[in-house]
Amino acid sequence: MTTSITLIAGREKSLLRRHPWVFSRAVDKVQGQPNAGDTVDILSHNGQWLGRGFYSPQSQIRARVWTFDQNEVVDEAFFLRRLERAKASRQPLIAEQGLTGYRLCAAESDGLPGITIDVYAKVVVCQLLSTGAERWRSAIVTALTTLYPDSCIYERSDVAVRKKEGLKERKGLLAGTLPEQPVVIEENNGVRILVDVEQGHKTGFYLDQRDNRRIAGRYCQDKRVLNCFSYTGTFGVYALKGGASEVVNVDMSESALALARQNVELNQLDLSRARFEQADVFKLLRQYRDQGQRFDVIVLDPPKFAESKAQLNGACRGYKDINMLAFQLLNAGGVMLTFSCSGLMTQDLFQKIVADAALDAGRDAQILERLNQAADHPIGTAYPEGHYLKGLVVRAW
Ligand code: SAH
Repeated sequence: MTTSITLIAGREKSLLRRHPWVFSRAVDKVQGQPNAGDTVDILSHNGQWLGRGFYSPQSQIRARVWTFDQNEVVDEAFFLRRLERAKASRQPLIAEQGLTGYRLCAAESDGLPGITIDVYAKVVVCQLLSTGAERWRSAIVTALTTLYPDSCIYERSDVAVRKKEGLKERKGLLAGTLPEQPVVIEENNGVRILVDVEQGHKTGFYLDQRDNRRIAGRYCQDKRVLNCFSYTGTFGVYALKGGASEVVNVDMSESALALARQNVELNQLDLSRARFEQADVFKLLRQYRDQGQRFDVIVLDPPKFAESKAQLNGACRGYKDINMLAFQLLNAGGVMLTFSCSGLMTQDLFQKIVADAALDAGRDAQILERLNQAADHPIGTAYPEGHYLKGLVVRAW
């Protein structure tokens, strides 16, 4: 007998719209005693088949859907099919932009809840963040070795959200041999970037900002640029390529800044135009303001300030604060590229925060461009949460 979950009356609506999550409060009863990660059918109150997913007894998201096709079996072949589709869908982008680093699988948006996979040259890095991903770990590794026979498979599931699913953090080699770190990837036809898949943030790098880095470079000819939350300094690399007279990269992480310096060298750019400041951006922006420093271009790409709805108000204050400080540091006619990577922050709310920040700084501002995550980070139309990265290019007067 297949195990199944029956929903409370009325709670089938989101699944009928193909949203892949079943919250614990939507569950009426569970039949057949499934274990964590086991495949379950999801049924409406009156027994209508809605989807087939995996069970997460410890998570608020009690089940997530693998398939909305009643005839589709969840087995090893399922994972190969999904990952093959994901890989094929990236090929035009890879060819057009000369990518050797890209997101292969964007979890829910690629039909594989909790499974994020990034490719960095000959290293495939996966983040398995759900009980279902954990349950099918070996099928996923087998599929990846089939699709990338010359690569090694490395796991970076060392993220705290695994706790919500009752899983421990994990990290390490799953198949093949890890090349010496960091590895070099290429993007936007010839920009070279060092990625440390063992020690770097997330799976190693922020592939999602690829298009926005290129856009940033266009504003930098002869400009003084401040790259806040620089990580490995790649916005700064594009700024230098775009002709910046000076780029100041600021990050808290010493190891990120060490790679940032190497990234400038790797791209044969003028190191004398680049500075690397290990500092807290919140403090440094105040210090610069008090010193009367000015910049022509400022990039603000902070880490996720809101992990949960409860943190959203505090996050809004944080965004407002740094955006206001950045406005105060911009020369008249200067441009800011400002981002939020919190899925909970909507485009509208973010724009309001930036507008308030301009107001508080006493500046007139214009939105020139709206920015998003790169196309290898697609957004399932049934899963709007997948749109996590948003940004604005704003000119201040
Ligand atoms: N812009 C980067 C990604 C930024 S990720 C890119 O395109 O690759 C966020 C970065 O902010 C991380 O490198 C983290 O070390 C840094 N960080 C977090 N809080 C900080 C703070 N208060 N001051 C300075 N850096 C901070």
